[in-house]
Amino acid sequence: MVYENPDGVKIGLEVHVQLNRLNTKLFCGCSTDYHNDEPNTHVCPVCLGLPGSLPVINERAVEFAIKIGLALNCEIVGQTQFHRKNYYYPDLPKGFQTTQYDYPIASRGKIVIEGEDGERIIRVTRAHMEEDPGRLQHIGTIEKSKGTLINYNRSGMTLIEIVSEPDMRSPKEARRYLDKLRSILDYLDVFNGDLEGAMRVDANVSVFNGERVEVKNISSFKGAERALLYEIMRQKNHVRRGGKIVLETRHFDEARGVTISMRTKEEEHDYRYFPEPDLVPMRVADRVPGILKALPELPDAKRERFISQYGIADMHARALTTEIRVANFYEEVASQVDPKTAAVWVADILKGELNYRDIGIDAFTVEDIVTVIGLVKEDKITEQSGVQIIRTVLDEGGRPQDIVVSKGLLKVEDDIVAKAVEEAVAESPEAVADYLAGKEKSLNFIVGKVMQKTKGRADAREARERVLARISK
Ligand SMILES: [Zn+2]
Repeated sequence: MVYENPDGVKIGLEVHVQLNRLNTKLFCGCSTDYHNDEPNTHVCPVCLGLPGSLPVINERAVEFAIKIGLALNCEIVGQTQFHRKNYYYPDLPKGFQTTQYDYPIASRGKIVIEGEDGERIIRVTRAHMEEDPGRLQHIGTIEKSKGTLINYNRSGMTLIEIVSEPDMRSPKEARRYLDKLRSILDYLDVFNGDLEGAMRVDANVSVFNGERVEVKNISSFKGAERALLYEIMRQKNHVRRGGKIVLETRHFDEARGVTISMRTKEEEHDYRYFPEPDLVPMRVADRVPGILKALPELPDAKRERFISQYGIADMHARALTTEIRVANFYEEVASQVDPKTAAVWVADILKGELNYRDIGIDAFTVEDIVTVIGLVKEDKITEQSGVQIIRTVLDEGGRPQDIVVSKGLLKVEDDIVAKAVEEAVAESPEAVADYLAGKEKSLNFIVGKVMQKTKGRADAREARERVLARISK
């Protein structure tokens, strides 16, 4: 099925990724571990841009940037150069932001996503390095704020801005793109996406192939999808009422889920870019082969390998390779039990329980899942009991072996089930007659009785077969 995109929706995203796995900022030695500290305690003359201070490039930041560029299938520039982007804003004490302009470190890449109608290639225009400004904190909402506080701890953190072409056709595709991007960055181990402000999104949106509107400052993925849904609806309604979409910049108010006009294009800044005189042009081409060689196996490649190596379904391979930690967890399990069974237990059952509780894979151990799978396989417990054990470990702690005993989950002996079947059939002559007369549902009544008599420890499917065998005699 081909997705027609009847409303002509076009979405392009600019994602700012904070490289918070670096120990120091982009141009100075200030620590990047500021998230739990007092405001304005991780600052120095360089990241505040005080007169006379000189930036020194963080070599590891350059390495990370190249790594990201290569993982996004980009071309890496031979030589790059930082520019000053001049504008005055309170979160930028220098009066300019040091960024890359006409020689971004990486360009012309692509990210493959699951689109509305199968796989789609989203083109990556460029990925460039820049420094993060400080953080403004409005008292109340941005519109009605009586005052604003500034925290410069973030000022000078390394950002990679990843800009896509307007190739996405729905908020869902945008969300998939962001998820994929985050997955790749996780694999590269260049950032911790759980930290506040680690990924911020600006979106360009247009409908009916009209003018584009920029929605700024979206701070989460969920927020991105909501902001896009709202903005597309707003534009469509506006056009339907006879209005015209103008080039403008809007702010996303996360609390209310709406976008608010900030400025129209006429008021946009002229940034007057010019080469940063304190940083010489930097040759990066020589570093590329080494970094390329050390690049880890990325999500798409890992997924394909899982399918061919373990013979598991594409759906499972996808679920297992989104997060590198889950992928590693699965491979350990698959080395000890049948890989296909392992895929069902890790991808469908365990991940479902983790998602429900909004916790990560670290909350469970390989040893415990192998134990649970083993108990089911040896027919000592039912599958339902296996799930119950996982839930108990997650909610109350404890070892599966102990929970089996304490909760009395071991399958009851054969003769107990047999006795329960006998009794249930004997006590339900009407249901038996109904079933024999063609009312298939009557069987459930009898099976229910068996489950009751065995306190739910019999395997429901097995109980059903036994009742059937008993009745058809
Ligand atoms: Zn500093």
